[in-house]
Amino acid sequence: MRLVLLGPPGAGKGTQAKILEERFGVPQISTGDILRGQVAAKTELGRQAKAFMDAGDLVPDDLIVAMMEGELRGKPSFVLDGFPRTVAQAEALDGMLQRLGLPLTSVLSIEANREALMRRLSGRWTNPRTGRTYHDEFNPPRLPRIDDEDGGPLVQRRDDTIDVVAERLATYDEKTAPLVGYYEKKGQLVRIDGLQPIDAVTQAVLSALGREAARP
Ligand code: AMP
Repeated sequence: MRLVLLGPPGAGKGTQAKILEERFGVPQISTGDILRGQVAAKTELGRQAKAFMDAGDLVPDDLIVAMMEGELRGKPSFVLDGFPRTVAQAEALDGMLQRLGLPLTSVLSIEANREALMRRLSGRWTNPRTGRTYHDEFNPPRLPRIDDEDGGPLVQRRDDTIDVVAERLATYDEKTAPLVGYYEKKGQLVRIDGLQPIDAVTQAVLSALGREAARP
């Protein structure tokens, strides 16, 4: 499985990527999680990325493409969550995969309207170690602010504030939404209704992948 999950912030890409990783052992590669790790570790990449992330802008393509060349090396299967985010990144990804002889299996666009995205992002809690997310209203942890899985503390991401969320959604519309047409033209795109409950979105994802039969 070599999958791209497209969709605006808050659509549920990370949630579905984690479910696919758990169910099929396909590694989730989340550029946002990797970048937050770099910022926390105060690396040179983290230092360069931080101001863009805090403002809700995209980190420049050359930094992201170089980072992803390293991440994809030696991984014959993956779920990409948050990459590509520009047409230039999608073209670079096509080139990388072509060189490796590993074309994408599919591209799923998880879609949701702005009102729902604002609601979801503003109530979101994240485990900074694993990237797993919860939501006060839609997917609460069993104990407040504690991850069900590893018992670690949950935090609110610094870019999940109202102002930065609005900027991230505007960035999505301007720079990432054109990718839907890019992959549609190539006949690789399946649209998924991300407004459904998490389980129903997973079912739609699995049926798009033709994987219903693999259910435990
Ligand atoms: P995410 O966790 O996917 O919402 O990403 C958080 C932030 O990391 C984004 O708002 C961007 O600043 C940055 N980022 C993540 N992925 C990319 C990417 N593919 N290209 C550029 N910036 C990215």
